[in-house]
Amino acid sequence: MTTWLDVPADDPFGIATLPYGVFSTDDPDLRRVGVRIGDQVLDAARAAEAAGMESGLLWEAPTLNPFLSLGPQAWEAARAWLTKVLTDEAYRDAVEPHLVPLTDVTMHLAIEVADYVDFYASEHHATNVGTLFRPDNPALPPNWKHLPIGYHGRAGTVVVSSTDVVRPVGQRKAPTDPAPVFGPSVRLDIEAELGYVVAGATALGTRVGVGQAAQHLFGVVLLNDWSARDIQAWEYVPLGPFLGKSFATSVSAWVTPMAALASARVPLPGQDPEPLPYLRGSPDEVFGLDVRYEVRVNDTVVATPRHADMYWSPVQMLAHLTVNGASLRDGDLFASGTISGPTPQSRGSLLELTWNGTEPLNLDDGATRGFLEDGDTVTMTAWAPGPDGARIGISEVTGTIRPAAS
Ligand code: MN
Repeated sequence: MTTWLDVPADDPFGIATLPYGVFSTDDPDLRRVGVRIGDQVLDAARAAEAAGMESGLLWEAPTLNPFLSLGPQAWEAARAWLTKVLTDEAYRDAVEPHLVPLTDVTMHLAIEVADYVDFYASEHHATNVGTLFRPDNPALPPNWKHLPIGYHGRAGTVVVSSTDVVRPVGQRKAPTDPAPVFGPSVRLDIEAELGYVVAGATALGTRVGVGQAAQHLFGVVLLNDWSARDIQAWEYVPLGPFLGKSFATSVSAWVTPMAALASARVPLPGQDPEPLPYLRGSPDEVFGLDVRYEVRVNDTVVATPRHADMYWSPVQMLAHLTVNGASLRDGDLFASGTISGPTPQSRGSLLELTWNGTEPLNLDDGATRGFLEDGDTVTMTAWAPGPDGARIGISEVTGTIRPAAS
C-alpha cells in the first residue's frame, strides 16, 4: 500500500502508522485533531469535511476524547477512511490542501487524561529494584507473579512531550541520616514505559475480562515516569509512590493506534505459575508487544529496552484493574511500568543503569551521570514491526530538566 504523499518507504510514520494527535497553528486556542503522515499533519476535521466524512466532525475538538467515546468500530472505520483518502489519487485534490508541515504546528496533550495507573510489569525491573532496595529479602514480592502490581498516579500532571520538567523539592532521608531534610531532589530519574490510552466507558460494578480488554485499548504512547528516587524512598512505605512521582509524567504527542500494532503482537515470555482464571486467555487474547526503544540522555544512547520482555500483558493489566468493579472512562491511561530486559543495556531507568548511582554512566561528551542534572534532556524513541517490513513509529517523548523553583 502506498500513499500519494512523498513519504520514504522506511519512514516510521508512513501509511501503516497514522497516529492521532492534537495540534494548533497560529492560534494556540484553536486546537484540533490531526493525523501524522511522514513530516506532515493532516487537519482531520477539515479533510473530512472536504471529502464528505460526517463523523469527522468529532475531530474538530481540543482533545481526542470525543473520538475515543465512539468505540472500536468507529475507530476502525476512521482508520480505513484515512488510509483510503491518503492512498487513492481520487481524493488527493480534496485532501491535500489540509496538510500542514509538522514544523508549522504546536502539539498539545492529545487526551484529557481521566484516571492514570502505573503498573510494574517487568520481571527484570522488579527483580533489579528488589535486589537494590531489599537485599535481605527475595527480589520479587510474594504477590508479583500472581497479579500485575500497580498504583494510581496523578492524571492532572501528565504532560505532552517537550514540556520542561522542573526538579521537584521535597523531603528525603537517607538511612544513615538522623532526620529528614527538605530541598531539591538529588536523585532525579527516568522510567521508560509504554502508555496505553483506554476508551469505552464502563459502568461501576462491572468488569472488563481479558477477552474484552483489547476493545478498550485505543492506542499507545511512549511514557517517561519521572521519578525522584530520594523522595520516593522516604515516603513510599507503606502506601506506595506519591510525591516522588506525581510532579510530572511525560507522554508522546502522537497516539499510535493499536490497529497499527497488529504485526507487533508477540507471545508473552511465559507465566509460571499460571495466573488465576480471570487473568487467563488464549494466546491470541493475552499478547505481548514487540516495541523497541532507544533512551538518550542528552546525545548519548544509554539504553535499548524492549517491551517484548514484559511479563504481564496489557489485557491482563486492564482485566485486573477492573476486576473489583472499578469503572473505566474515556481517556483513562495506564502504563506498563519500567521496561527492563535481561541485559544491562536493556534497563529502563538510571537507578538500574547506574546500579543506584554506584556505577555512573559515561556520556559521549565526557560527562558522567548517576542521576539527572539540571539542563539534561531525556529523549525516548521507539518503533515496532509493521506489515510488509514497515516500521511503525511511536513518537518520541522528550523533556528537559529545569532547576527547582526557589
Ligand atoms: Mn513507573
